[in-house]
Amino acid sequence: MTNKLKYFIGNWKMFGNLASLKNISQIHRFINANKKIKKSSKIILCVPNTLIYFYTNSMRLKSISIGGQNFNKNENHGPFTGSINASMLKDVGANYVILGHSENRFEGESNKVIKKKIESALKQNLKVIFCIGESLKEKSKKKTLSVIKKQIKESLSKTFNLNNIIIAYEPVWSIGSGKIPKEKDLRKTFKYIKKEFKKIFKKKYDPVVLYGGSVNTSNISNFSSISEINGFLIGGASQSAKKFIDIIKNYYK
Ligand code: PEP
Repeated sequence: MTNKLKYFIGNWKMFGNLASLKNISQIHRFINANKKIKKSSKIILCVPNTLIYFYTNSMRLKSISIGGQNFNKNENHGPFTGSINASMLKDVGANYVILGHSENRFEGESNKVIKKKIESALKQNLKVIFCIGESLKEKSKKKTLSVIKKQIKESLSKTFNLNNIIIAYEPVWSIGSGKIPKEKDLRKTFKYIKKEFKKIFKKKYDPVVLYGGSVNTSNISNFSSISEINGFLIGGASQSAKKFIDIIKNYYK
């Protein structure tokens, strides 16, 4: 995973139907018409599972990669009604998957379960967008750094191919709330994540670390000057092609 590129990753969450696939074509047209942006950015859309096969089978646009948003912790097939596993996601053509999202942690997903899922994603050659972040309560108790260190330590392993992991720092209090962290806090947290990653896993390279939480067309310019941020995981705003495109445009303005 290169951190020379800026990543713009959309998390459509539980939104979107076949008609929404036109949003992907719109984003693709924009990227292809902007050579500079195309060269310096990586665009990944994590859409509902119901849309992945249609996309990979009949659209498969070169400048956009496609991903899922989660899967069942069981690596093998089995009686898990309503679930899919990592190999099924790979089979329909996904190349990325979001794991450890706070909306799934909220449903009871532990670091241990997330580790198991990351392991099975990597086995299937799926690249992982691994979400970490503190809750409001943890932030108010000044536990941000210790919480994210624990999430990294307990969910990753030095035996994993860590080159295929993108870390997304998403403060839970920021997701969908319109609130974003202060610039000085972001700089501190991003430096810390990169430093701890290298220390824990004895790596010489910086991991790719994204920011996620209420990124929109107006506040994206606040992030442009923070060089430690390698890109963005965008939830609500990514469901609109126009907003997603304007976020990218405004980032490079
Ligand atoms: C997310 O769900 O990953 C996210 C960042 O959401 P939002 O942009 O809506 O805050």
